[in-house]
Amino acid sequence: MSDKPSLVRRTPWPASATRPVATPLQPSAVYAARDPDMLDDHYEGRIKGYAYAREAHPNADILAQKIDQMEGVSGGTMTSSGMSAVLASLMSHLKPGDHVVAADQLYGQTLKLLTNDLPRLGISYTLADPTNADAVAQAITPKTRAIMAEVVSNPTIRVADMRGISDIAHQNNLLLIVDNTFTTPYGFQPFDMGADIVVHSVTKLLAGHSDATLGYVVAKDRDLNEEIKRLAITWGLNASPYDCWMAERGLYSFDLRYERAQTNAATLADHLSTQTGVRRVLYPTRADHPDHNRAVDLLNGHGGHMVSFEIDGGRAEANALVRAMPNIAFAPTLGDIGTTLSHPPSSSHRRLSAEVRAKLGISEGFFRVSVGIEDPDLLCHEFGAALQRCFG
Ligand SMILES: *Cc1c(COP(=O)(O)O)cnc(C)c1O
Repeated sequence: MSDKPSLVRRTPWPASATRPVATPLQPSAVYAARDPDMLDDHYEGRIKGYAYAREAHPNADILAQKIDQMEGVSGGTMTSSGMSAVLASLMSHLKPGDHVVAADQLYGQTLKLLTNDLPRLGISYTLADPTNADAVAQAITPKTRAIMAEVVSNPTIRVADMRGISDIAHQNNLLLIVDNTFTTPYGFQPFDMGADIVVHSVTKLLAGHSDATLGYVVAKDRDLNEEIKRLAITWGLNASPYDCWMAERGLYSFDLRYERAQTNAATLADHLSTQTGVRRVLYPTRADHPDHNRAVDLLNGHGGHMVSFEIDGGRAEANALVRAMPNIAFAPTLGDIGTTLSHPPSSSHRRLSAEVRAKLGISEGFFRVSVGIEDPDLLCHEFGAALQRCFG
């Protein structure tokens, strides 16, 4: 009995002169050190290594380095979701009494955080139209500390005046926080445009397969970036190794997926615009887009993978169109490798009153498409046939 090794003692990782090509998944929540001196060395930064997964783990570090590379920075932090990245981007520097100017068409939960939760902590906000830099400037008060913006809005695909907003942020000594989820580093480089903090929902196009929930946040300033890291550890915003591992796998094909999805989106937008029953199509690089010139300037020709369109009629027609496309996932997300269709008035924008939705241009016939990498002919055929069935 006594010389039999205990079953619960870990068997050492097998030695190998060769190395794995694929990144190993490291789920260990904790790491063993040789002795207390080694822990001192670790926590005082004299050696490199890991101690506890909430503080850091290899799968998060590898993924963060890859996204750092895409954004042209270093030291980014992986978080448990896009929303925890948004939270870290705000709570790393705001305190009671501070004020934030935020774009009025931000991601719904970000708006909820700003309008519901931060006021309870004494942090106030003003929402402003980000396509109008003067409106953003007018929203600034002596207590304003930050401006939060997305480059392309959901679901109306409006393009923010990022040059104007960036100038205003710097003239007023404010931090500019950019959520680059929709545009991705391929479509827009926030740090070149004067951003101070960049956040991503990695759940979307970066991971790209709807099987990982993750966020990423990074600040240009070293001290602020350290504060973000500290906050993520203390508030438990850390990312799971498994999700980081899945997202890293997805990221290897990001460039190819993005290119293909973007070409498909432009093709689908043009095709939809020729269909009976389609009232309007919103795609940034189309000449009829309200922010066409700004899109060409800011996005460098990258229209992205999101297309919105509006059909004639109301809820009955919307139901009929979705039912006529059983092969297109009707799901309120974006960035999957396959095309997904969403209906903002019954999902992301359901809490708004019909009047507010109407002001934003989101009728019951409004749809948003996150275009995937399918054969473009198949995609155009599916949408065309469904519209024909409803309106032909
Ligand atoms: C989805 C999304 C988020 C939130 O990300 P989660 O990973 O779902 O928490 C934040 N911002 C934008 C623009 C998004 O699309």
